[in-house]
Amino acid sequence: MSNCRHLLFLFAALLCATFASANDKIKVLIVDGQNNHNWKATTPVMVAAFERAGSFQVDVATSPPSGGDMSKFDPQFSKYDAVVSNYNGQMWSEKTQQALLDYVKGGGGFVVVHAANNSFGNWEEYNRMIGLGGWGGRNEKSGPYVYFKDGEWVRDESKGGGGSHGPQHEFQIVVRNSDHPVTQGMPLSWMHAKDELYDSLRGPAAEMKILATAFSAKSQRHEPMIFTIDYGKGRVFHTPMGHADYSMQCAGFQATLLRGTQWVATGKVTLEIPEDFPSSDTVSMRE
Ligand code: ZN
Repeated sequence: MSNCRHLLFLFAALLCATFASANDKIKVLIVDGQNNHNWKATTPVMVAAFERAGSFQVDVATSPPSGGDMSKFDPQFSKYDAVVSNYNGQMWSEKTQQALLDYVKGGGGFVVVHAANNSFGNWEEYNRMIGLGGWGGRNEKSGPYVYFKDGEWVRDESKGGGGSHGPQHEFQIVVRNSDHPVTQGMPLSWMHAKDELYDSLRGPAAEMKILATAFSAKSQRHEPMIFTIDYGKGRVFHTPMGHADYSMQCAGFQATLLRGTQWVATGKVTLEIPEDFPSSDTVSMRE
């Protein structure tokens, strides 16, 4: 092949690769705008993690501030392969509530991060979708506590509020199911960066698979940290991790978020476990 033809061939190949990667990108919508957490600091950490991976295209839908006109908050969920909630605030309009339910029931992907599971305590279908939640008036009427204790999974119907945590600290995540695409190939235990370890979440916990847990010194049992829920034709990925920007800078959190999002969007995970993934006893942080 002459040099000129060689170059043309290379150019054509590059062009094809560029188009293919643009088409193959998973379209992600992060929802924020109200939260008792610093969403203005945490959303950018998630956006950067998705963009660094190269296989996601991310938009952010920010609601009006608390007390604002929620009828103006009308995210186009159906244009996306996955919706990631970093929202904990005022109830959405009925139209927006219905749009989320229709989207997930129809096969859309939904990702719940940390205080997004505090949201909408009285919205029955939302609670079915997220499996477990905390605060927001949740109690025994919301569903059982679900945890791992003395080698057994427990669905505990006892009375009491939903949601609690002790002081923030680094803690170890223990993978309980390595057969699922999200956790396949993941080290069986890994050290998560400083975070709130949510305990005593409660909810319908229907069609829920718990993939990983962490031991809570406060509740004295292993609490769900990575789990999935089937909702209609849709897939939901839920992690109670992610209290602050530094919690989300954990390489393990980011890999888990990306794998969970790819799974809800496509039903598969092709992302590799990154080389900087935390070990069993050492935290691994990203910028
Ligand atoms: Zn928190």
